[in-house]
Amino acid sequence: MIASVLPTYSRAPLTFTSGSGSWLTEADGRRFLDLGAGIAVNALGHAHPALVEALTTQAQSLWHVSNLYNIPAQQKLADMLVDQTFADTVFFTNSGTEACELAVKMARKYWYDKGQPARTEIIAFTGSFHGRSSAGIAAAGSEKMTKGFGPLLPGFTHLDFGDHDALNAAVSDKIAAIIVEPVQGEGGIRPLPDVCLKGLRDLCDQHGILMILDEVQCGMGRTGKLFAHEWAGITPDIMMVAKGIGGGFPLGAVLATENAASGMSAGTHGSTYGGNPLACAVGCAVMEIIATPAFLAEVCRKAGLLRQKLEGLVAAYPDVFEAVRGSGLMLGLKCKATNSDVVKAGYDQGVLTVPAADNVIRLLPPLTITQDEIGQAVARLDAAAAQI
Ligand code: PLP
Repeated sequence: MIASVLPTYSRAPLTFTSGSGSWLTEADGRRFLDLGAGIAVNALGHAHPALVEALTTQAQSLWHVSNLYNIPAQQKLADMLVDQTFADTVFFTNSGTEACELAVKMARKYWYDKGQPARTEIIAFTGSFHGRSSAGIAAAGSEKMTKGFGPLLPGFTHLDFGDHDALNAAVSDKIAAIIVEPVQGEGGIRPLPDVCLKGLRDLCDQHGILMILDEVQCGMGRTGKLFAHEWAGITPDIMMVAKGIGGGFPLGAVLATENAASGMSAGTHGSTYGGNPLACAVGCAVMEIIATPAFLAEVCRKAGLLRQKLEGLVAAYPDVFEAVRGSGLMLGLKCKATNSDVVKAGYDQGVLTVPAADNVIRLLPPLTITQDEIGQAVARLDAAAAQI
């Protein structure tokens, strides 16, 4: 009997059996240039030798002990993250969704510990995506994700992304935190302008509100900085990380200042697998490669090249594409044709992109994509556009 698997997405008729660098291969040998990178997960492409080595070395010595005991790879990764960011403390999860759960709990616990009346309200933004757990869907608030799952976790207010006036009007001494993606991914590659991120930080400071940044999709080098908020010169109080940090292995984290995390102590929150030795060994190898100025400068250089070539596509196919948007190697092509038709035409031409809201196709290539592969990818997108 063939079992039914409940999928997250409606599935493409493609089955990959191996991957290497920027390429995925089907059983019959057909190769695809992967501009989706497992939805921004395979930040270093497929089967990167350093990650394979880190994983196999760890697998040969120890898989799992639980968080009852010290985990050297976990400590090493936490040290690396703290060295590179605003954070004083790190809590490991298996995914971005779990990171969202913890970020919301951490913010509410912070205010609970400050005494009564505790602040519990969270401001979130339309078009956002924070995962599909109870906190995640309540934070995103879109009907597509919440319908039928009520009653929702209470205490979330939704404002239009980037509407600073609405934000000013909504802040009060009931607000525990504001949660925002510096670049919306699922929402259609919508970067929040630096000035808005700065304004948000100022507002949080004025009202003592905790700022939670969801860098699950836009973090880990994708925009050309280790984390996207660095472009705006601000730091959050709490940050969610996942996807790229594990390079394909399930790993997430919540990074926080000592102050924001002050409500959390052993047992306040927990995870059996979060920060397990295998995931953290891979995470360390990812950080060693991505968190270097030379690697990030190269991401910026390649991003400029890809963007320029995509602008050319928009000019060449005005009936198919409308505009390029995004930051670094987190780019979106706003379509005039139906985005899913463009994605499907890409399959015919051997190039993988990812649909997003607002009729956008996402380009989230491995950060290791080469200049030559960028040329090949755009040529395949060109052929896909010509097919529509
Ligand atoms: N937050 C953002 C911004 C995301 O893009 C995602 C996943 O796409 C999540 C949270 C949820 O992460 P995960 O699928 O690892 O649970």
